[in-house]
Amino acid sequence: MTEKESKYVYKKKSAWEIFTKDQIKKTYDFAEEYKKFLNAAKTEREAVQEIKKAAKKTKKKIMINREKEAAIIIPGKKPVSSGLRIVISHIDSPRLDLKQVPLYEDPDSNLALFETHYYGGIKKFQWVTIPLALHGIVVKKDGKKIIFNMGEDEKDPIFSVSDLLPHLSHEVQDTKKIDDAIKGESLDVVVGSIPATGDVKDKFKTAILDKLHKDYGMTEEDFISAEIEVVPAYKARDMGFDRSLIGAYGQDDGASTFASLKAILDLKNPEFTAMSLFVDKEEIGSEGNATAQVSTFLRSIIKELDPKVDIDKVMLKSKVVSADVNAAVTPNYTEVFELKNASSLGNGIVMSKYTGHGGKYSANDASAEYVAEIRTILNKAKIPWQTGELGKVDKGGGGTVAKYFSRLGMEVIDLGPPVLSMHSPFEVTSKADVYSSYLAYSEFLKK
Ligand code: MN
Ligand code: MN
Repeated sequence: MTEKESKYVYKKKSAWEIFTKDQIKKTYDFAEEYKKFLNAAKTEREAVQEIKKAAKKTKKKIMINREKEAAIIIPGKKPVSSGLRIVISHIDSPRLDLKQVPLYEDPDSNLALFETHYYGGIKKFQWVTIPLALHGIVVKKDGKKIIFNMGEDEKDPIFSVSDLLPHLSHEVQDTKKIDDAIKGESLDVVVGSIPATGDVKDKFKTAILDKLHKDYGMTEEDFISAEIEVVPAYKARDMGFDRSLIGAYGQDDGASTFASLKAILDLKNPEFTAMSLFVDKEEIGSEGNATAQVSTFLRSIIKELDPKVDIDKVMLKSKVVSADVNAAVTPNYTEVFELKNASSLGNGIVMSKYTGHGGKYSANDASAEYVAEIRTILNKAKIPWQTGELGKVDKGGGGTVAKYFSRLGMEVIDLGPPVLSMHSPFEVTSKADVYSSYLAYSEFLKK
């Protein structure tokens, strides 16, 4: 290649090569805080609590919807009528939820178990035989809330979904399609094995109910008004000899959530009113009253910021970053990626013009003008970034909250770090990409 040609070629570069020594140090420091956030915020309710704490500490304006959606807002130099700058991430992650009547016993195996219904797109075989914790709340009939958090402290017991030994799995699992090998109904969590004493019918179940009543004052009916989520019990860890990666549960979308939280907390004197918005239920289609599909919360925020403003006009003038993760090129499975357009760990934050599946169906397709604007912001600030597309054409696909906000007339683009083993109980990110995301959201919110 001649020198002249090389000047015009688009080349991806590793963030580790772009970053200065000082930035690399900041990358590692940032990751330490990020890991703490991941450990503290494994569920949407816990994320809201962490966001609330951080806003209080830094005296930032925060608004909360139903303990499941939150926004931190920094007033801009320009009036609200000139539009907002919003970074939106989601605070729910794939997991197992307890059913309404979860507790039963299996007398054949001498065990008490919880029935679950999985939440979001999981590969079921990844959720058996791993240590699990129970997070959530139980609302008793008098409205009193019991916070449930069992399995995180070293001294806590943990839970697990059992699996069949290989010696016996040939017929019922090994010869089946991987998706059929583990059934959704078999993702039941083992919770105890000591029978109750005396003349009782369901000895194992009764013993657990007695224990729960003693520890939490709860009855079996209380489970009906509960939200207990089963999540991996382990903590976020550094990965690789060079400690460049983070392995943890909930990085989709914890990585974007933490990066956009830090960005808004550190933001000073933005041009436009800036907001980091954190929404629930993205993993099950953003249905519900604390989600991206329902803009009532956003409307009420705009109204509170300026009661006289025309909300529709504000939205038409607003610019949005949909902060969600993208699929990182996966070793041994590169055939599902179109490598020129796929994102890889370590190349910085991923910009996706569109998402969707099968002919861009259901996608937000950002305008070339807006892509250029974002590209320029990132380039000017020397922030490592790359483009990304979720797999080869017609190989699958996926969506984000982007389309729900573009529907409101806002400019929206997807911008978030790549993740390896996405939606698994142990997702992997590059520290450089998570830090690049923080830098990108910070620059965007400033402008
Ligand atoms: Mn996501
Ligand atoms: Mn997801």
